[in-house]
Amino acid sequence: RKFNFSAGPAALPEEVLQQAQAELLDWHGEGLSIMEMSHRSAEYVGVATQAEQDLRELMQIPDNYKVLFLQGGATAQFAMVPMNLLRGAESADYINTGIWSKKAIKEAQRYCNVNVAASVEANNFTSAPVQSELQLDPKAAYLHYTTNETIGGVEFDYIPDAGDVPLVADMSSDILSAPVDVSRFGLIYAGAQKNIGPAGLTVVIVREDLIGQTLAGTPSMYDYKIHADADSMNNTPPTFGWYLAGLVFQWIKRQGGVQAIAEINRRKAAKLYAAIDGSDFYGNPVAVNNRSIMNVPFTLADTALEARFLELAEAEGLLNLKGHRSVGGMRASIYNAVPEAAVDALIDFMQRFEKEQA
Ligand code: PLP
Repeated sequence: RKFNFSAGPAALPEEVLQQAQAELLDWHGEGLSIMEMSHRSAEYVGVATQAEQDLRELMQIPDNYKVLFLQGGATAQFAMVPMNLLRGAESADYINTGIWSKKAIKEAQRYCNVNVAASVEANNFTSAPVQSELQLDPKAAYLHYTTNETIGGVEFDYIPDAGDVPLVADMSSDILSAPVDVSRFGLIYAGAQKNIGPAGLTVVIVREDLIGQTLAGTPSMYDYKIHADADSMNNTPPTFGWYLAGLVFQWIKRQGGVQAIAEINRRKAAKLYAAIDGSDFYGNPVAVNNRSIMNVPFTLADTALEARFLELAEAEGLLNLKGHRSVGGMRASIYNAVPEAAVDALIDFMQRFEKEQA
């Protein structure tokens, strides 16, 4: 296998893939695949329940929060959040730190007035705003932000204070990368395809008292309460993704939990940023305290060399280093499952590539 720096769907732990492969045809001697099993069977419900328990343990999710295993990606959450959390209000606060926040804003505007509490668009999304810059609307139902902008590589280094209203976070690209205090949030959501498992599964963690007051006309599939009351089995859930997420949660536990994973992540990111900063050949524009430990965008001083860089990298088994099509440049996504050896190999390649151009 090669080193995969994809932003998502992203690398999964090799150990997890091996385990899934070993039991793919015959799950635990049942004579069928987990993919072929009824979601109502005692065996599958056991798998699903264990996955939820493991996630609760890993993130220390308080008991008054529901954990939902849904479909529709983080993009469906862009709509589900206002549909469920406006609760009679007409406006919501959003922080704009990049492409994903903008998409969340645009979708929310279909349901309410969006007050952009702060935007860093003027600096080309190269930092996160500080708390004192947030201009909150006293009538807003909640404050939404993107903890980690996957494309820009900008990550908040603090949890915003939303005052009396719930704080809502899109954690698609940094969930489980470092410990967070879940009790500070009203709702957290994440598409699975970066740090959790395969695409097709979306995890939502929501405080119980916030659900059950949806906007008139909300489809039942977009109602958190309906999913919560049915233990995410209102209809057929994404069973394989949920199972695989469970294997990933167990893998994180074997690594020593989120705290231990965070130390490795910080070390991986620090050495990659050091390599970028240590050379005039490579650059990263993000404010140092907001640099993402998951997505590391970088540029080459001479953009004409980008295609050659990518071609040679790929030939060495370093895959998916091309930046997002909207911003160009390079991007190395170094999620939990990307081994430190991958980062070492990338740095080594970058240094050799630079020398060859001299
Ligand atoms: N939010 C963030 C921060 C993302 O990185 C992504 C996808 O990459 C999305 C939302 C959209 O997720 P999905 O494709 O699961 O709808």
